[in-house]
Amino acid sequence: MSINDNETLELILNQVKKRNYNETEFHQAVHEVLGSLGRVIAKNPHYADNGLIQRLCEPERQIIFRVPWVDDAGNVQINRGFRVQFNSALGPYKGGLRFHPSVNVGIIKFLGFEQTFKNALTGMPIGGGKGGSDFNPRGRSDGEVMRFCQSFMSELHRHIGEYTDVPAGDIGVGGREIGYMFGQYKRLTNRYEAGVITGKGLLYGGSRARTEATGYGAVYFVERMLATKKHSLEGKRVIVSGSGNVAIYTIQKMQALGAKVIACSDSNGFIVDDDGIDLDIVKEIKEKRRERISQYVKLKGGNTYYKEVESIWSVPCDIAMPSATQNELTGKDAEMLIKNGVIAVGEGANMPSTPEAVANFQKAGVLFAPGKAANAGGVATSALEMQQNASRDSWTFEETEKRLAEIMCTIHDLCAETADEYGIPGDYVAGANIAGFVRVASAMDALGI
Ligand code: GLU
Repeated sequence: MSINDNETLELILNQVKKRNYNETEFHQAVHEVLGSLGRVIAKNPHYADNGLIQRLCEPERQIIFRVPWVDDAGNVQINRGFRVQFNSALGPYKGGLRFHPSVNVGIIKFLGFEQTFKNALTGMPIGGGKGGSDFNPRGRSDGEVMRFCQSFMSELHRHIGEYTDVPAGDIGVGGREIGYMFGQYKRLTNRYEAGVITGKGLLYGGSRARTEATGYGAVYFVERMLATKKHSLEGKRVIVSGSGNVAIYTIQKMQALGAKVIACSDSNGFIVDDDGIDLDIVKEIKEKRRERISQYVKLKGGNTYYKEVESIWSVPCDIAMPSATQNELTGKDAEMLIKNGVIAVGEGANMPSTPEAVANFQKAGVLFAPGKAANAGGVATSALEMQQNASRDSWTFEETEKRLAEIMCTIHDLCAETADEYGIPGDYVAGANIAGFVRVASAMDALGI
């Protein structure tokens, strides 16, 4: 069943496209979710009543603001800041901040929309939101990043709070940026309100395992998905695109569970190491030196090479973990992976596969874990950080990771069982969309218009 089989859904999609002119990523994300809802409405028509789906596609609040700051040369720089508070039916808005030159309102809206369903799947009491800026951190000094973060928070602080909206990191926003933003929030409000932001350092209210959580969670999800077909990670050849936080901890957990990760990348190109990626070198390059991944070949030598022009997905593998950014894996990439025998794909990034790529994987019977389910471990652990902050407690790494692993298994099983219930076994895309939708929509319905 596709969106074209249901007039109501097609009408809603066209409204969204008209109202959010030119926001192509947002259109894509809405199309993808609505494409799964025909089955739900056929079974439970009341979900199409009271403009429920239209309300779900319109953010509750969108904030756009000026972020002025002074660079090291004394020049005034102006960036644009965003916070889209998408849906608060299940809890305070929750979702990361992305600092990247590509950021615009359409990208933040697509991310906030996805976040709403992802957060619902975790079963934690969190609504959906997302924010960020077109600020480019690349090549900026520590002082510049601090002044930018402080200016960004000077406006954002009036819109957030532990019961209102709880940001965290995303691309371009890690522990350092969260620290500067939390510091500024504390200065402006005179409140040590640790639960206002997550991804904090351990000395000031952070949670153990939060840094690792998105990557670890994606691996747990894929491990469980493989188990449904009697496969394991042991000895599998894996490609992880990206080399940021998600990619690094995906590689770490894959290796710990016996898989062999042979390639990773950044926005310039990719490296292949047939002996298996040496994660210490990747961390040294990306986290300490903040340099390009091409450095790996110089530092490691051996059976390594670097390529700039081709796609990382041309490298043969058993498992692909796209963990860089949206639409990084195209229909053609999917065809190459399928030809080379890929058996499973786990999305560590948000919407990294294009609709054509997803369709190709599903047609070929490749196990496919969509980002809103597979990468939910990050935000789920953020919710665990909020729990620890609310109870002024701090859990051990083991306890926190155990909770994360349980949550990922529960999300996997919920998606799989929902797909079974709707007569499309193994369709994790529809399973995730339907299960997430039913939770958010039911809460919205109960709370009235
Ligand atoms: N940016 C992450 C995501 O896409 C984490 C959000 C959070 O921890 O709030 O889910």
